[in-house]
Amino acid sequence: MSQESPLSEPVIYHGKKFIVLSDWDGTITTQDSNDFVTDTYGMGRSDRVLLNQRIRKGEDNFRDAFRKMILSVTANGKKEGKVTHTFEFCKNAVAENIKVDDTFKGFYEFCEMNDIPVVIVSSGMEPIIRAVLNKYLASLDGIQIISNEVKTYDDGSWDIQYRHPESGFGHDKSKAIAPYRDMDPAPIVFFFGDGVSDLSAARGATCLFVKFKPNGENELMEYCIINKIKHRLFQSFEEAQGVIKLIIFAKTEEERQNIIAREWPEVA
Ligand SMILES: [Mg+2]
Repeated sequence: MSQESPLSEPVIYHGKKFIVLSDWDGTITTQDSNDFVTDTYGMGRSDRVLLNQRIRKGEDNFRDAFRKMILSVTANGKKEGKVTHTFEFCKNAVAENIKVDDTFKGFYEFCEMNDIPVVIVSSGMEPIIRAVLNKYLASLDGIQIISNEVKTYDDGSWDIQYRHPESGFGHDKSKAIAPYRDMDPAPIVFFFGDGVSDLSAARGATCLFVKFKPNGENELMEYCIINKIKHRLFQSFEEAQGVIKLIIFAKTEEERQNIIAREWPEVA
């Protein structure tokens, strides 16, 4: 059996000094759309949180746990054997209910103005991301999205199509970073994330921004602390932009490295 991804390979940006890769759910959006669908239409919040804890402890992997969440959504809505929680239904529910961080658009424009490509790297499904983008950020429709896809069936059921089905992450986000780390000279990679789907990418970024969640679901932050991975908490893209400005406008390479060392200290 082939282990190759069935999905198209991402475009790689060459000759850039900086690149931004960002998780979508819970990082650019204010709430995770997959959590929303699972909590509202599938197994519910408490079972979903238990599964997330199992992933973090290494007792389950993201790929299999996330698939269980999706299957709970289609199984849960059945009426007389018919699926009511179809993909269209869930996509529309997400577009209606999920909001984006209102500082992201300004951040994206700042990056564009300074020749910094911005790529969305998501463990979600592209049509759902596009539906939310179209609603709130229509001007960003050219943004590159590296994510999973979806398979729909005649009976209304649906399933995720993983980018890296051989990986326990389903979409191994470290593979989106790797081509940039391998370049010479390599660009500085700013990675933004918040949750269990970002664990594979956490070690690959030059500068890792971890979104702080007042609701206590800080899975990536906890993972970074346990594994002593340098990271910087942020609550809005406006705040992150302030730090990135210092780095990209540093007068010398030495000054730039000093700023990075100061803003991303060793984890005690
Ligand atoms: Mg996330």
